[in-house]
Amino acid sequence: MQTDDKVRAAVRPIPPAAALSPFDDGDDATFHRLSDRIVHTIARRLPFRSADIRLDRPIVSFSFDDFPVSAHETGARILEHHGAHGTFYAATGLLGQKRALWTIAGPDSIRDLHEGGHEIGLHTHSHRPSFLMSRRQFVADLGANRAALRRILPDLVNETFAYPFGLSALSQKRSLGHLARASRSVQRGLNVDKIDLDFIRAYELTDGGLPVEELTRLLDDAAARNGWLVFLTHDIADSPTRFGASPALLTAALLGAIRRGMDVLPIRDALTRIGVS
Ligand SMILES: [Zn+2]
Repeated sequence: MQTDDKVRAAVRPIPPAAALSPFDDGDDATFHRLSDRIVHTIARRLPFRSADIRLDRPIVSFSFDDFPVSAHETGARILEHHGAHGTFYAATGLLGQKRALWTIAGPDSIRDLHEGGHEIGLHTHSHRPSFLMSRRQFVADLGANRAALRRILPDLVNETFAYPFGLSALSQKRSLGHLARASRSVQRGLNVDKIDLDFIRAYELTDGGLPVEELTRLLDDAAARNGWLVFLTHDIADSPTRFGASPALLTAALLGAIRRGMDVLPIRDALTRIGVS
């Protein structure tokens, strides 16, 4: 095998582009260099912290990245209507901004969600892919994210993190072991048996990317294996962007989970259930 082929073989399987990087704010977060892709892949595969999942009942978590106003006004309301709560990852440098695809929620939404029992999580301040930052820049950026959130919510503690665009690098991932309770990726898969706490697996909940048959299969599988199924999405609208979901899809996933006896918990509370402090 040629060296180039070996490198390519070593970095497979790469998640499909759609799963890797919601180009949610118009930034180009694709890998320009093979070295960036390798760094992400190694980071993805090398666990620093892990946990064993042994659940009596399966769990589903719904998470919203960035997050648009509609995630608060429509997404959270749907969850609340069924007695459930979600996780909202905020990139504080974007708060209240009108972007190409949506308007990002502001501090009032963050306060309202927190008071309503939802989880507010870290998503960096700048919303840059972590591999584009040095370790020092990443730590500073995450610190700014946490400080901004804690100015809004002084009682916030022990936050979880979601990687912008789902992209990671080794040194940043290692830092997260000290900086976040756990981190959610966009790597597809059910969280079951032994999980990487710095790379929790999640499926994108989008109307274009998750057909009903696939959703049914994921819920059946999670229920049968007593696993922890995590969804991520962005906007919730009747005509969602390709990174978001319709109220009908969110409701179908939620009711499908409830019907199967799954507990609907924010990522924070799922970690507690699993025994992660
Ligand atoms: Zn994001």
